[in-house]
Amino acid sequence: MTKRKCVVLSAPSGSGKTTLAKRLLQNTSLPLAFSISATSREPRANEKDGVDYFFIKPEFFQEKIDEGSFLEHEEVYPGIFYGTLRAEVERLWSEGKHVIFDIDVEGGFQIKKQFPDQTITIFIMPPSLEALKGRLTNRDTESTESLKMRLSKAKNEMKSASKFEHIIHNDDLNKAEQELQALVTRFIER
Ligand code: 5GP
Repeated sequence: MTKRKCVVLSAPSGSGKTTLAKRLLQNTSLPLAFSISATSREPRANEKDGVDYFFIKPEFFQEKIDEGSFLEHEEVYPGIFYGTLRAEVERLWSEGKHVIFDIDVEGGFQIKKQFPDQTITIFIMPPSLEALKGRLTNRDTESTESLKMRLSKAKNEMKSASKFEHIIHNDDLNKAEQELQALVTRFIER
């Protein structure tokens, strides 16, 4: 195989990015795998440790930062940390997989900076802030406070979209999926 590659998917929470990433994995014969991130937040009712995230208590998260365990980490929301574990990415690469990162905008830029020739950066743009609010509310996983934080961050993240190499507009999930599939296939096979 050619060099191990990184596919960075960034988007505001609720923009459909995780669904798109899951579909991409299901419907491709390319050797792709998700990097499971670590977070210091509590799991939601439907989330499992080691599947959705590695859930790490805030005090251990700081220890891991100090040990240099993260390729990148961000305080995505006040007091809530997220990070890409070096060991996770190395494990996937050693299995011959290219890695998909479902991470925030700043984290995505960090990955690009570290692996400039091996990384594609893709921003998933939701139809509108209103649509995003609707999706997050329907998902019913967030408290009012958490919803407010996510929408405020979403506004800022949408302003950063132009710094990405590609933008996919997720107005129609099937169309967005096809676009993503085509982009990633071209990038991996080039
Ligand atoms: P949620 O709490 O809704 O699962 O995720 C909140 C935000 O954290 C999302 O924008 C998601 O992309 C971002 N995120 C998830 N994992 C990571 C990571 O490893 N690094 C960074 N920088 N952001 C992450």
